[in-house]
Amino acid sequence: SSALPADFGEAWVAQMRTALTAGAAALGDLDRRAGDGDFGTNIRTAMKLVEKNLDEDSPSGYSATLTSFYRAWLGVGGTSGPLFGMLFRDLSKAGEGSGAPTITEFAEALANGLATVQRYGEAEVGDKTMVDALAPAAEALTSAAQSGDDPVAALGAAVDAARGGADATAETIARRGRASYVGDAAKGVMDPGAAAVVLILAAARSAAGG
Ligand code: ADP
Ligand code: MG
Ligand code: MG
Repeated sequence: SSALPADFGEAWVAQMRTALTAGAAALGDLDRRAGDGDFGTNIRTAMKLVEKNLDEDSPSGYSATLTSFYRAWLGVGGTSGPLFGMLFRDLSKAGEGSGAPTITEFAEALANGLATVQRYGEAEVGDKTMVDALAPAAEALTSAAQSGDDPVAALGAAVDAARGGADATAETIARRGRASYVGDAAKGVMDPGAAAVVLILAAARSAAGG
């Protein structure tokens, strides 16, 4: 069936908190080599704010839980804070109110989120940003959902596409964000924002039961 589990939002946020907290050091290290080094700190700050928001809001259901999550990102500095904030704001609207979204609604929300990130960040595929992982993932998810794949398989396709895009960022030079200041020095280093997108989507697959 195309329905995501009723507790998908709660499970996804819980899995993201675990994965991003565990990954913060490695992602921060990538940003030290390919950027200005603050991404690990920005993630830790965001995850502390998520904890605070969840305590204060006691959200229940997909939309409310994702709202506590996106508002935390909007309170963080760097470029990633506002961009992830806007991405997850669009994702919070998936299925709008009626419990957990279907995988088709989730795919539409991810595509909306990608469009918002690109509208504000002005990055295209190939600029060595999170867009390099998000764009192929959104496309793979949309086509898997349209083909009637079950949520775990569809999200699995999105994870694979995101990982392919993230891996490819190691070969490119940043044209956006602080990483663009270091130019050639970042050759061979994966973009940390793209790597974070892989963790975020792997957490979604896991929350869907995969
Ligand atoms: P900053 O680059 O301002 O130090 P962070 O370190 O918090 O921000 O986040 C870095 C990540 O943000 C990068 O790895 C990249 O994926 C993403 N990013 C930076 N600028 C942009 C942009 N203009 N569009 C999309 N993503 C971006
Ligand atoms: Mg940085
Ligand atoms: Mg910075």
